Amino acid sequence: MAKAIVVGGVAGGATAASQLRRLNPDIEIVIYERYDDISYGSCGMPYYIGGDIENRDSLMNMTPGKFMEKNIFVKTGHEVRSVNSEENTVTVFNKNSGKEFTDTYDWLILSPGGSPKQLEAVKDAEQAFSLHRLADLDHIMSYIEKNNVKESVLVGSGYIGLEVTENLTERGIHVTVLQHDERIYKNIEADMNGVLYEAMTEHGVTLKLNTEIDYVDGKQAVLSNGETINAELIITGVGIQPNTGFLNGSGVALHNGQIPINKNCQTNISNIYALGDATITHYQHMPAMLMQAALAWPAHRLAHIIANQISGDKTITHEGFLGTNIVKFFDYHIATLGLSEKEAADVPHFVVDQKQKNKSGYMKDAAPIHVRVYVSVETGIILRAAVVGTAGVDKRIDVLSAHTRLGGTVYDLINIEVGYAPPFSSPKDVINMVGYKAIEKAQKL
Ligand SMILES: Cc1cc2nc3c(=O)[nH]c(=O)nc-3n(C[C@H](O)[C@H](O)[C@H](O)COP(=O)(O)OP(=O)(O)OC[C@H]3O[C@@H](n4cnc5c(N)ncnc54)[C@H](O)[C@@H]3O)c2cc1C
Repeated sequence: MAKAIVVGGVAGGATAASQLRRLNPDIEIVIYERYDDISYGSCGMPYYIGGDIENRDSLMNMTPGKFMEKNIFVKTGHEVRSVNSEENTVTVFNKNSGKEFTDTYDWLILSPGGSPKQLEAVKDAEQAFSLHRLADLDHIMSYIEKNNVKESVLVGSGYIGLEVTENLTERGIHVTVLQHDERIYKNIEADMNGVLYEAMTEHGVTLKLNTEIDYVDGKQAVLSNGETINAELIITGVGIQPNTGFLNGSGVALHNGQIPINKNCQTNISNIYALGDATITHYQHMPAMLMQAALAWPAHRLAHIIANQISGDKTITHEGFLGTNIVKFFDYHIATLGLSEKEAADVPHFVVDQKQKNKSGYMKDAAPIHVRVYVSVETGIILRAAVVGTAGVDKRIDVLSAHTRLGGTVYDLINIEVGYAPPFSSPKDVINMVGYKAIEKAQKL
């Protein structure tokens, strides 16, 4: 019987296995996962800390038992240590027995994700955690409860850092955010991120810029600015690195540690596929430019493609990603898509800004929304978009994402039919206004 081996059993790996079984009842499928938990919703974890999610088990999608019902074998506590792409074998270490063995595959699906980068200064502190796995969440929650934590330090201000800051605050724990340089959440433009600082002030979060932890002394952290602060709990969120060390010597090509994939989601070796945070691909709207979308939905999209490819439908292919993303920080919503600001700077473009209300201005809860787009001078497509507000941000970024994905230009935005009634939008929605302004600007170029 033909056999697929999947490395990694959470977002990408578990989804790829399920999709493959749905399309293909006959092949053997084995998932190797080095830790104990599989198929859980990482994205929900911050919201369990804050209480928006009441039941921890609702984060679990599948169990090895439920997979077995689909005839998918899940081996937890099994780490794939090496791949031999000439022999079509993997070497697997069984953490429970301490023994290593070899398994063979016809197709290998790699979804090993990434691991949080560690901070040297806190590595020996018992109160220091990162939030990446379900086990991390359990450790953080039990530490908070046992020690009745009231003061915490959050190192880093990426989207996970922001979500954890909000949720610790919701739990009644004071947070001091440390950012090693002078700007938080660099995914959004420096002149659009003022709402983050406002939200921190409004909710009593302390922010220290240009500050790092030098060392931890008991329940205190000594900072690079000379201050000593209470640090009953320290959570670090300073980025991830791909878990691809086991591919060294395998023949699978890597690019800065990440796995490049082609339109079939294959690596450079035709029967080895890859998806998820460990992969690198290209922008859908700028195919010559590489991008990495370490987010849940790209993993799910690629899982679907891989399952179809392996099952024989070669027409379903990967066309790259826009990297559309959104984060909530207290009352504020921040979303972007497309190139980073730095990447956009290298492509001839002009910028259109539009600030107006998210709905008819006479509605008492109308709120400001700010949309910025970077428009390719050559093609008129939106290279990058950024949207900030307290309501309606998701609607606007999703419209811009779908429009750009389908090849629409900024000028076509005047024709977008945004669902309008006063509680939702205005007859000239912010999206339409961006289009009008872009036409005007382009005429003057
Ligand atoms: C707190 C948090 C919040 C998030 N919020 C969002 C969000 O709001 N929106 C969004 O789109 N994304 C979000 N994400 C990101 C999203 O969860 C990831 O993009 C997604 O999980 C990536 O899937 P993956 O399969 O590549 O990696 P993972 O889901 O990390 O799975 C990889 C698995 O592979 C295992 N593994 C690694 N190496 C081996 C090996 N050699 N042998 C066996 N097993 C191995 C690992 O142990 C791990 O369990 C969030 C992530 C976190 C941590």
